[in-house]
Parts: sequence; C-alpha cells; structure tokens
Amino acid sequence: MSSRLFRMHGNFCTSHPWEVIVATLTMTACMMTVDYQYQTPPPKPTVRSCGDCIEEAEYHAADMITMTLIRSLAILFGYYQFNRLRKLDNKYILGITGLFTVFSSFIFTSAAINLLGIDVSDLKDAIFFFLLLIDLPKAVMLARLALNASNQEEVKTNISRGMSVVGPSLTLDAIVETLVIGVGTLSGVHRLERLSYFACISVLVNYVIFMTFYPACLSLILEYFQLSRSTNSYARRGSALIAKILKEEDHRFNPVVQRVKVIMTAGLMMVHVHSRWSLRDYENQNGVTRTVIEDHIALNGTEEASAAHGQIMKWIALGADQIVILILLLALVIKFVFFENKQELTEQLLSSEMVERRTEMPKKESRRRIHRSFPLISNNFPSTGQISSEDDDDTDSNMVDKEIQTDCFPEISDVESSSPEDDRMGETCRSLEECLKIYNDSDLGAAALRDEEVIMLVEKKQIPAYQLEKAVEDAERGVGIRRRILGSQAKVTKALINLPYKNYNYEQVMGACCENVIGYLPIPVGYAGPLLLDSKEFYVPMATTEGCLVASTNRGCRALMKCGVTSCIVGDGMTRGPVVRFPSIKKASEAMKWMQTPDNFAVMKKNFDSSSRFARLDKILVKIAGRYLFVRFVARTGDAMGMNMISKGTEISLKGVQEIFPEMEILSLSGNFCTDKKPAAVNWIEGRGKSVVCEAVVPAKIVSTILKTDVHTLVDVNNSKNMIGSAMAGSIGGFNAHAANIVTAVFIATGQDPAQNVSSSNCMTLMEPWGHHGEDLYISCTMPSIEIGTVGGGTVLKAQGACLDMLGVKGANIENPGENASQLARIVCATVLAGELSLMSALAAGHLVKSHLRHNRSRTVLPNEFSQQLIIPPCNDNNV
Ligand code: NAP
Repeated sequence: MSSRLFRMHGNFCTSHPWEVIVATLTMTACMMTVDYQYQTPPPKPTVRSCGDCIEEAEYHAADMITMTLIRSLAILFGYYQFNRLRKLDNKYILGITGLFTVFSSFIFTSAAINLLGIDVSDLKDAIFFFLLLIDLPKAVMLARLALNASNQEEVKTNISRGMSVVGPSLTLDAIVETLVIGVGTLSGVHRLERLSYFACISVLVNYVIFMTFYPACLSLILEYFQLSRSTNSYARRGSALIAKILKEEDHRFNPVVQRVKVIMTAGLMMVHVHSRWSLRDYENQNGVTRTVIEDHIALNGTEEASAAHGQIMKWIALGADQIVILILLLALVIKFVFFENKQELTEQLLSSEMVERRTEMPKKESRRRIHRSFPLISNNFPSTGQISSEDDDDTDSNMVDKEIQTDCFPEISDVESSSPEDDRMGETCRSLEECLKIYNDSDLGAAALRDEEVIMLVEKKQIPAYQLEKAVEDAERGVGIRRRILGSQAKVTKALINLPYKNYNYEQVMGACCENVIGYLPIPVGYAGPLLLDSKEFYVPMATTEGCLVASTNRGCRALMKCGVTSCIVGDGMTRGPVVRFPSIKKASEAMKWMQTPDNFAVMKKNFDSSSRFARLDKILVKIAGRYLFVRFVARTGDAMGMNMISKGTEISLKGVQEIFPEMEILSLSGNFCTDKKPAAVNWIEGRGKSVVCEAVVPAKIVSTILKTDVHTLVDVNNSKNMIGSAMAGSIGGFNAHAANIVTAVFIATGQDPAQNVSSSNCMTLMEPWGHHGEDLYISCTMPSIEIGTVGGGTVLKAQGACLDMLGVKGANIENPGENASQLARIVCATVLAGELSLMSALAAGHLVKSHLRHNRSRTVLPNEFSQQLIIPPCNDNNV
C-alpha cells in the first residue's frame, strides 16, 4: 500500500518536474526572504544565561579538539562512502549526484534555518553533519535506475519504482533520525541543542528534497540529455541491472529492522511528548509561558539581527581546527586525484560486474559484455532495433531486454582486433598460474580474465571451448572468444568477418538451439500474400535465397484470392518408433500381442501421458522382424512439433513394458520406424505430424489472366509430370512440383526444424477440370506428414517468433492446445497449393526458364560477356 503511494508520488514528481521544481524553489525563496527585523523580538528566556555560559566555553581547547576530531571523522566517513560507491558506479553519476544532493541540501536547509531564525554561524560545524546525514547511496541508486532507462517513459517508470522501494524506508528513517537527534534538543546544553535543532531540520529538509526536488530534477536532466543516454553504458546494461538494484534495496529493507524502528519511533515519541509536556509550562523571566524551542528561536532571531556582521567574520576566520580540517581535505583530494590506484579500481569494477553477472546467470537474465560496463567504450554499431521482451513488466524474472541486430553488421575490426578490454588495458596476459587462480576463485572465475587469458586457458585445456559462454558468464563474449580461437586455429579470421555475431540473444540459443556458436546467419525473408485461406487472409513469411520462389508463390496467392483455399486437418500424430529385441520370435510375438491388447495399450498410454501435460498417446503400430519389434508410438503433442515430448513419453512407456517383459532389450529409442528426417513410405502412408488437405477451384478467367495458361494444359502437365513422371521416378510422396521449396522457406522463417522438410514436403498435387464444361480448375494438395509446431525448438527465437506472430500463431494456444500448430500446418499446405499452381502454370506456359533467368541468377557471379549475351525477356509480375 505504502509502496504504491510512493510510486504514485514518484510518478507525479517525474511527470511534473517543472511544477515541482518551481514550487520547491518558490518555497525556498519565500523562506529565505522572511525578514525578522520587523517581527517583535520575543522576550529573553531564562535558559539564555545557561546558553551564554556554554557559548563562552566554546573556544576552550578540549572542546576544539573534540570538534576537530568529529569533523575529521565526518570527512573521512564521507570520503569512505564516496569512494565505496565510486567503485560500484560511474564516477560521473556519483559526482553529479553527490554534488547535487549536498548542494541542494545545504541551500534548502539554510533556507529553513533562516525561516526559523537559528544562528547562521553554527553552519560551519553543521556542514560536517551534512556528510553524515545525506543518504548518498539512495540518491545514487535512484540515479542509476533513471540512467538505466532507454526512453523518457522508462525514466519515469524507473524513478517511480525506485521511489516505491526506497520511499517507505526513507520516511521511516527520517522520522527515526529526527526523533533520535531531537533527544539532543532536550539536553539542556545550549550548543548541543542548537546543533540538534539544526540536524533535525536538515534531516527533514533532506527528506523533502529527496522526495520532490531530486526526482523531478533527475527526470528533467535525463530528458535533456536523452540522446546521449541512449548510447550510454547504463542504458545498455538493461533491466537485469534494474532488477539487481531494486533487489539490493529490497534486501536493505529488512522487515525486522523496520519493525524495530517503528517501535523505537513510538518510544521516542513518548519521550518527546513527556519531556516537552513537562517543559511546556515553565515560565520565562518575563512570566510568559513558552516552550524551549520558542525560546531558542526567539533568542537566535534577536541576536542575529544585531550581530550579523561579527558572526560572518567569525565564520570566515580560520582557527587551528579549520586548518587541520583543510589539510585533511587537501590530503584526501591529492590522494584521490594523483595516487588512487586506477588499475585496482578498474579491476574491482570488473570484478563487481562479474559478481553481478554471476548472480544473474542462473536466472537466465540478460547479460552484457564486460566491456559495456566501461562508459568510455563506445558501441560499434550505428543503430540497433530494440525489441523488448514480450513480458517486459515489473517482475524481475521477466526483465529480459535484449537488442536484436536488425540493420547492421559488425565492423571488420570487431573480428580482427582484440577485445576492447584488452585494447584499453594495453597489458600483457598474466601468468598461467595467476589466471588459473582467478579462474578457480569462486568469486571471480573466468569472467574476471581478459580475452587473451581465457584463450590461453582454452588452449591449455583448462576451459572446454564449448563451455566458453558459461565460463565467462556472458554469451556474446563467449561467442566472440570462440571466433578468435577458431579464426587463428583454422586460419579463417577473414572468413568470419562477414558472419555477424553481435547483438543476438544467445540466451535462447544456449542449451536449446545450437552449440559451439560462432554467430548467426541472416537469411532474406519475403512474404507471399494475402493468401485467402478458410475465409481469412494471411501474409506468409518465407526465408529463402532462391530468387523467384516468393514471387511465384505470391502470384499463386493472387490467383487464389477470388476463390480462396479450403483446408482440412485429417490426422494429427507425431511418431516415435523404437526398436526392441527379444531372445526369440516366440517372446517377440507374445509381446507384440500383449501391446496390441486394448487393456495393455491403456497401461502404456497411462505411462506415456504421465510424461507431459500435452502429449497424448493415441495408438501404436507394432511390426515384427524376426526377434525384433518396431513399435511406432503415435501421439498428439499440442502446439509442439513434439519430437522431444514423444521421445520422453515413449521411453517411460517402454520402461513399463519392460517390467512385464524383462527380457526385452531396448536397442534404440529411435528404430527408424518413426521415421524422422529420412524419406520413408510409412510417413506417406500412415501420416506423421499434421495431415492436411487443401483445395481450391480457380475460375477459368484467373487461369488465363493471372496464370497465363488454360485449364486443359495445366491438367495435362500436372498428370504428365506430377503423376506419371513421379511414378517413373519411383517417388514416395513426391507427387508435386516443388512443395519442398515452400515448406522449407516457411519452416526456416517460423523456426521449425528445417531437416524435417524431408517428410513434411510429402505432397500430392491433383488437378482436374471443373464446372459444367470443365472450364475452371480444381486443384488440391494432400500433405500427410507436416511436422510442425509453434512452441519449442527454434520457435522461441525472436525473429522466428515474429514470423509466427505475422500469422497469428505464435506460441501455445491457451484455449485450445494444438490449434496454433494445426493452423500453421493449414497455412503451409495452402501456401504449397499456391506455389504449385504458379509453378505448374509457368511450366504449362513455358515461362519457367525465362523467369528464373531474370529472378534467380545473380548477375554478380556472371562474367560480363555472358551477361551481355543473355537476352532476358521482359517479365512483369504476372509472368513470374
Ligand atoms: P520441446 O520444447 O522439447 O517441448 C515442448 C515443451 O513445451 C514441453 O515442455 C511442453 O510441456 C511445453 N508446452 C507448453 N505449452 C504447450 C502446448 N500448448 N503444446 C505443447 N507443448 C506445450 O519441443 P518438442 O516439439 O518436443 O521438440 C522440438 C525440438 O526437438 C526441436 O528443437 C527439434 O529440433 C528437436 N528434435 C528432437 C528430436 C529427437 O529425436 N528428440 C528429433 C527431431 C527434432 P510439457 O513439458 O508438459 O510437455
């Protein structure tokens, strides 16, 4: 509840920065200009005489030594705090934040003191208390959060979130500090009382400034410097850092400590009420009833007006204590500027970044290259498209905000030169022993080593090359190092220049899609469409390097726009066919019969279904070969293509059978009776994955105008080529013109397993004359084995996910699991039909060679003479 209030408050401050700043400054100006000389000076209280005595003893040697010690301690504490934060943060942020906070706190507190009429001369001591009272870490934390944003909206959100986290604890701290310091105001020692008043006011002013002026200024400053921020290292470090910062802050908000503070507050309140109540009614010299506070304000107010000049002189004058402080300050500044061990700091920064990465690693949160933590190193890429995580909300686990390279490739220097860390440090590698020590240190690890050092450990077989990403705890850095190793080992450095690797979300690749990664391959993606399928329009993404393919499919879609395509799913079942062996044919046939019995199948199904929420065993096909059994498990797998799911279920189910037949040997979970990624009649006959049929009736006019042929010729060519020709070739499932072209292009675009184009491209294209006089064209495509899914495998990758999204089938279908995968299978089959129609028409019209020469032959590889000789016929879109 309180967090929400503070969050709303933070949101308000950042959304109306000017209003908040102007209001605060106006208030301050008003407070500073309150003129006491026109106010009636209150009568002097009796405590005045006591205060005078203490003031006279102010310059006593012992007092001076004590105050000097306290001041020195305050400076050292401030320096320590500053230095500690500096190791974790960008020094510029820290500097600006620190200066801003100290300065604004000083100004606003002075204004408040002026309003209350407290003696200004005490400020010289009070300055040191600023150092103790200002909560620099919280101010820096808010600045870090704000700097992590990549746009103004995010700045507001981050600051509001920061406020919601620090707001409650800060409020409680301010109350507790005020009450604790307030006890000093009851001491009866005049000087201590005045300092305590001052400290209380300072705490309260700091609190108000932090809650209003500071977030408003932060928001405005970042808005002003928006452009530079978009490239700063903080913004690139992403939301993982935000999560970390908020978590750190959350940890600090220890509920037990907070409860103690609340109890303390209540107790202190009672002390204050009791003490002040008893003091309230004492009578001053003039017989007027006043409180101690009123007396002090009155006292100071009158004094100030009469002796301002003398006090200022006293304030400026240097005493022995000031000289000590000055020397101390100078020594610290000199140490900071000239003698601070920069290298050590750099490495500490590096290590802290590594530790940060290590804590983030198991959660699979976004990781960045180490050198990004150095603000001095600029981004090599001109611009990148930012695609934020779909679930980029407030929860830490969802804070994945990765950049995907969409419009640029790495520079040559990225591959050839060493990493920026090495360039920057310009140092030689540490010894093998030293590197091993760092590598084996659980707090540091390989992440704290330079690239060259990691390479040395790989070469010395201390780090397996395939585990580089894990070792350095940064996938992109790991890939970069592997490229360098491969480049030098295989002498292919130059070859890798044009293989991009930066700005790719390797988190989704690691352990799921690819190993030994050295980059990623950009493939052109085109679209065909709109494709009118079951009364809905689809724009079908196709990833291909074959010119003509998309254009041709597009023409098919255009020809089908009027009539549309109708589709039916006639089968759904992914298969896995293990091979098992028995001691004899008798035992094998006995087991076969056992499995074919419905009750026993129910047991196998129960075991199988227990392996997944979505995989459901529908049937098994058992074939015997001597003492071998081939058991083809057929199961629905929801929206997943299902190979992993079905393998898992099959294994569990077979283990159950083995309990009945202990002599059964499971030779291989895949006995090629599945059949996966190999041409096989079983898939063509029995089906595998989704079995889909599509049909369309294309009007004669479209056949002649768009397809530039006639129905009779088309049907004739189809029979000759796709039926007789394929039969002559002994084809299995290849009764089509080029189904594999479309299947593969859509598979690559949508993150399917491309090797499954083998069975998925099984297709029979049939054509018939249609209508009373046979003037129209009936066309159908039968595809019994489309192995496809919308979850799992490569579908999780961003770009592939985008293509699935284009078709409205991304991810799992929550209401009806399996519907997205089925819809995608329908789209594939209908797109194949469009492709078949277009290519067959081109063949019937004799346009194939012409269009391919125009669209499919790259001129860059042709010798000039040949290009000139080549006569390319004019080809408009209709001719494709
Ligand atoms: P998978 O990613 O291994 O499994 C799908 C996961 O998604 C399961 O954990 C499943 O939950 C979950 N899921 C959530 N919602 C779902 C829904 N609506 N429908 C279905 N599942 C849903 O994917 P897979 O399709 O089984 O396997 C694909 C991978 O296998 C590809 O990478 C492919 O290259 C590879 N592959 C493997 C083999 C092999 O022999 N193993 C062969 C060829 C290809 P549950 O945990 O409840 O099931």
